[in-house]
Amino acid sequence: MFSKILIANRGEIACRVIRTARRMGIETVAVYSDADGEHGPALHVQMADEAVPIGPRDAETGREPYLLARRIIDAALATGAEAIHPGYGFLSENPEFVEAVDKAGLVFIGPSAKSIRAMGLKDAAKALMEKAGVPVVPGYHGERQEPEFLAEEAEKIGYPVLIKARAGGGGKGMRKVDDPKEFAAALEGAQREGEASFGDGRVLIEKYISAPRHIEVQVFGDNHGNAVHLFERDCSLQRRHQKVIEEAPAPGMTEEMRTAMTSAAVTAAKAIDYSGAGTIEFIVDGSKGLKPDGFWFMEMNTRLQVEHPVTEEVTGIDLVEWQLRVAGGEELPAKQEDIRLEGHGFEARLYAEDAAKGFLPAIGTLHHLSFAENARIETGVEQGSVISPFYDPMIAKVISKGNNREEALQMLHAALRHTQVAGTVTNKAFLSALCLHEEFAAGKVDTGLIGRDLEKLVPEPAHSDQALVCAALFMAAQPSCPKADDPVSALGAFSLWGERSEIIHLEQAGERHSLALSTTDGHNWSCRSLSAASGAAWTAALLFTDFSAKRLQILYDGKEIAAEVAAWGGHLAVFIGDETHEFALPDLLEAVAGEEAGADAIIAPMPGLVKKLSAKPGQKITRNEPLIVLEAMKMEHVLAAPRDGVLAAVNVAEGDQVVDGTVLIALEAEEEVEDGARSGEAPA
Ligand code: ADP
Ligand code: ADP
Ligand code: MG
Repeated sequence: MFSKILIANRGEIACRVIRTARRMGIETVAVYSDADGEHGPALHVQMADEAVPIGPRDAETGREPYLLARRIIDAALATGAEAIHPGYGFLSENPEFVEAVDKAGLVFIGPSAKSIRAMGLKDAAKALMEKAGVPVVPGYHGERQEPEFLAEEAEKIGYPVLIKARAGGGGKGMRKVDDPKEFAAALEGAQREGEASFGDGRVLIEKYISAPRHIEVQVFGDNHGNAVHLFERDCSLQRRHQKVIEEAPAPGMTEEMRTAMTSAAVTAAKAIDYSGAGTIEFIVDGSKGLKPDGFWFMEMNTRLQVEHPVTEEVTGIDLVEWQLRVAGGEELPAKQEDIRLEGHGFEARLYAEDAAKGFLPAIGTLHHLSFAENARIETGVEQGSVISPFYDPMIAKVISKGNNREEALQMLHAALRHTQVAGTVTNKAFLSALCLHEEFAAGKVDTGLIGRDLEKLVPEPAHSDQALVCAALFMAAQPSCPKADDPVSALGAFSLWGERSEIIHLEQAGERHSLALSTTDGHNWSCRSLSAASGAAWTAALLFTDFSAKRLQILYDGKEIAAEVAAWGGHLAVFIGDETHEFALPDLLEAVAGEEAGADAIIAPMPGLVKKLSAKPGQKITRNEPLIVLEAMKMEHVLAAPRDGVLAAVNVAEGDQVVDGTVLIALEAEEEVEDGARSGEAPA
């Protein structure tokens, strides 16, 4: 076995690989890009025994550091690592990288360059599979690319058809065509996208399977001629051909169908002398139940998949351990008959993205992050980490395992509910809504489910008013100066109330709420909005508070609402059920700003894009003069001069992407005299 390996990846998959390597007594080397190093050591860097910086993007090609084979191989050689684990994405399916690793005298933890090449292009892979006797989606996957010819082929196949870029991946370069009239335009679109994303505009045409399901089989091979399968996963819950929730086994799977699919998958793996972890993806016609003549090979992913944990949950096998053993030259650790499937596993991909805005990827600092205690969580971030615009905005994979599907789904939903993220928007409520979706719960899945019910799955938050009330009460009802050694005030809000009133200002999505709250018993509160337009008023009862655990329960509108609260630097997040509501506290923010006023710099308060800059070194500025417009999450924020003075340095330019905490502008130090004058002004 290896004594030291390098992980050529970042985020959750780097952490995942490190964990298994550690358990096996293998030392680990992490690599990290400048973009990842900027916010302090990333989680994968903290977890590894050693870490090597791999710098910025390539100056010539602009290529991402995690794609720079030379830098990564040099890091492995310099640290004495014997093998490289590529994770998924980046260099994981790049045959030239595998050859370069071999040439450097290192081991690539994955298949051979030859196997990757055989499956690298969808058209060649299909031809190969057809020859091996694996069922392939009816279609044209030959060399000819003239539009008229392809249109004829589409006609022969029968509409609807799917045009796919042969080099495609991640749902890119794919167009469904329902009508021959739309064929020419769709073809152009797929070619253009294939050319732009993969440098290859060639396409293939396939029959579009209606009500399709995506069912894939996990396979494993070794260098001694063995190949096995580890059963199937169902990945039919997709949005725009991207997986959202995966599970194992596939709902409604029959023994007959499973035998047909898994033996086709093992045949496919053997046909290319496959070694390591791989996945054979099949498209399945689910319209009339699962039938052994109703599945077709789509593509093979010659790497570990994002969703491999669901297979680990139902087989009890650590797939990363198997990868390491196989790459180290061992035989597969188990024979086919010893691999058993037990229970049911789910995985949900938690992303920083705004479902309400068409699932726009989001960025931000994870000011608050906590996960369900009993769930398996695969993550590469921790509280305080930054989701930057440079990489995939995945926050975590939330994984559940139950004795059966119903139990596992309920556990997945519970795990999501107990996941709290603040500081960025997430798709958590969307994932939770999916868990409650009736057809999904009944196991009636197909790749169109999410698209059909999108509106239902991305509902307007139902508890906005309740969240506002909880936030206001959380602020108003806090004992003003709790003393731990005072038994009376330790009782919290319920002690020693007289008539009490508070004015609380809260801001949500740019809207300001000023609320006057009052109580005589600390239990029943009445509240009135101070903004003339609204004039809203309500009453609520505080049923329970635990300020140290930041939990409260209120009776509002005859309903009991339980909420949890997270607080950080002038902000509050209220978690109710599946919903997250964030508020800014302008009073606290002003207090913070007040402290910063007179400061010697403007620091980016959040990650964002420098939209406008009106500052030059040497320029005289006056307090509150707008100097920078920062665009973050599609909103513009004006950053103004903290005091009168002269600019010493301007560290950014228009168009720069900055992370929070960056010193954007520095002022010349104030002169002694001015300082004295000011402190003289201030009241004692
Ligand atoms: P899965 O492994 O479940 O199929 P994805 O399709 O989302 O998951 O891909 C896994 C990872 O590989 C993601 O990080 C994605 O960005 C990356 N990826 C997918 N296809 C490509 C590609 N053709 N080139 C580079 N990266 C890719
Ligand atoms: P990628 O490389 O982007 O993963 P795939 O070929 O694996 O591309 O297909 C991705 C998704 O597109 C599938 O999971 C499925 O939802 C859909 N899809 C692919 N082929 C077909 C088909 N012939 N009919 C219907 N849907 C398909
Ligand atoms: Mg695929």
